[in-house]
Amino acid sequence: MTEAKKNKPTVLILGMGDTGVLVATRLSRHFNVVGVSTKPNLLSGQELGKRLTDLSWWQTNYNTPLTQFKALEAVTIVHGKAECVDVTANTVTVVRIDGETESIGYDYLVIASGTSNGFWRTDRVQSSREISTELSNHAERIKSASSVTVVGGGPSGVSVALNIKRKDPLKQVTLCISTTMPLPGYHPDTRAFYQSALAKAGVETICEDRVTTVDESQSSGSLTLASGATVSADAIIWTIGRRKAHTDFLPDHLLDAEQFVKTRPTLEVEGTDNIFAIGDVASTDPDRSSARNWAYSILVHNLKRKAKGKPANKHYQPPAKRWGSIVGPQEDGLTIHQANGKQTRLSKRLVNKLLLPVIVRRIIYRGVRGG
Ligand SMILES: Cc1cc2nc3c(=O)[nH]c(=O)nc-3n(C[C@H](O)[C@H](O)[C@H](O)COP(=O)(O)OP(=O)(O)OC[C@H]3O[C@@H](n4cnc5c(N)ncnc54)[C@H](O)[C@@H]3O)c2cc1C
Repeated sequence: MTEAKKNKPTVLILGMGDTGVLVATRLSRHFNVVGVSTKPNLLSGQELGKRLTDLSWWQTNYNTPLTQFKALEAVTIVHGKAECVDVTANTVTVVRIDGETESIGYDYLVIASGTSNGFWRTDRVQSSREISTELSNHAERIKSASSVTVVGGGPSGVSVALNIKRKDPLKQVTLCISTTMPLPGYHPDTRAFYQSALAKAGVETICEDRVTTVDESQSSGSLTLASGATVSADAIIWTIGRRKAHTDFLPDHLLDAEQFVKTRPTLEVEGTDNIFAIGDVASTDPDRSSARNWAYSILVHNLKRKAKGKPANKHYQPPAKRWGSIVGPQEDGLTIHQANGKQTRLSKRLVNKLLLPVIVRRIIYRGVRGG
């Protein structure tokens, strides 16, 4: 049974992924915070290419037990899955990993349950051991393949194709892109940069063609394209951006036609007075970009104001173009692409000595204990 601590309102966060953790770290001193999560770790959806090709580096930075975050010490973590939200009673029914069901009350609810968009992000309840096994199996599958086809030219597809080819130049890597260039939604200069980087690395790109039969369970073999061409590989990776919002547990009136949470610029959920949403599940803009643009500070600010009886007054403004790192740290450093097409390169040393340990772990996450 999850006990509420006295005298403080309860904030219940559903999903302790990239955004749920950040929100919890900022609220835990002011509220009684409970985080419900299908995973006992912050298992990030970031840097898929590095996850498949440099697993030990990736695990150090992107697979962190929630118990290691210093600012989550006061947060009650419930390892399980939210199954039903009752917005009238302000309760959430959770089925825990041990199979028991519990009802958790809240004063404020934060929906941060993300989306599935491929094998690497799911809402399955998993133990740490199951997560580790799955990560190793995925990396091993790529390592042992001599040819890989990546379907989809968004950031995940580009990251996967380029990292695999750079890790093992002898592998045949093919990237299927339905548009003329990779990375739709990014600045044209960023798109041109990766088109050239893919070619230089030796990734074969097939542009303006589509796989005719999409079956994400097909993990190897031959694919036919609309032009009639075929492509075969020992491993197929689907990065086609087919997102499914993790919202089965929410009442329909909170969801838009695509089952994402109807979210106002204040990150409050439409038609409610005490529910917020953030991250990939929140329909803030067509790109659903609030996981990536410091929106957690807006949510935290607005939630604190609501708790003081004041209206939310900060608004999330999505950038016009997508920005950020696309392929993660490489031999020549980490390239960060701005929304205006400009880029900044940080050296590998700066990334490993300053960016990840100091800026990310110490400042953004407010302290992470060593593994
Ligand atoms: C620099 C950078 C690089 C990126 N690289 C990639 C990339 O390579 N590939 C990619 O796909 N994305 C990438 N992204 C996107 C990023 O992974 C997502 O935007 C981010 O993970 C979304 O965070 P979130 O908190 O909304 O969801 P998530 O981090 O997915 O967290 C949601 C959590 O909620 C849990 N959950 C789901 N349903 C329930 C439930 N009913 N009850 C309880 N818990 C539940 C989930 O299991 C998960 O743990 C990148 C982003 C950045 C900033």
